Amino acid sequence: MMEKTLVLIKPDGVQRGLVGDILSRFERVGLKPVAMKMVYPDKEMAGRHYTDDEAWLCSVGEKTLKSYEKKGISLDRTPKEQGMMVRSMLMDFLSMSPVVALALEGHNAVALVRKIVGATAPSDAAPGTIRGDYSFDSYQLADKSERAVMNLIHASDSVENANLELAIWFKDEEIHSWKRILDDLLYMKK
Ligand code: ADP
Repeated sequence: MMEKTLVLIKPDGVQRGLVGDILSRFERVGLKPVAMKMVYPDKEMAGRHYTDDEAWLCSVGEKTLKSYEKKGISLDRTPKEQGMMVRSMLMDFLSMSPVVALALEGHNAVALVRKIVGATAPSDAAPGTIRGDYSFDSYQLADKSERAVMNLIHASDSVENANLELAIWFKDEEIHSWKRILDDLLYMKK
């Protein structure tokens, strides 16, 4: 299925001068950039992106608690409490310096981008993924310093969320429809 997805190169990726390298990872696999811009989000904008939706807060919290459990550490907080702490740290992180927002288009783009980006904690992300290749940050390291995990990228996790998130970062007219010569080979209808 043809899909569009949102990628944010987070402040750590921009600060470390990795915008070009990261963009090339998506280009070389054949994804088509259809929108791109630098944004300096304030906390309100960061909070619109990382919403206080209960299901999302719990799932973020659960991932963290599971990672601690694997290391034999049990934290004395509920997944939702953990998720709320993470959201607050993310709002600080995303608004600390500019991010680069990208809309990428391609067949099954949402899942493909998540595969290229890798697991949430770079310490768990496989080599060859962006997070695995460019960082060794972990939940424990981040939590000790009371900051967000610096994992370079945000990528939408479903087509539904991609549509919601694209609307936060781009106006309709900023998302372009353009044709590459490769499209005729990839998506030609017989
Ligand atoms: P993903 O970005 O892989 O979709 P999540 O939606 O679970 O992951 O989390 C959103 C972001 O929150 C992560 O990319 C990471 O930057 C940050 N994060 C998640 N868990 C923690 C944590 N325990 N401590 C600090 N930051 C976290």
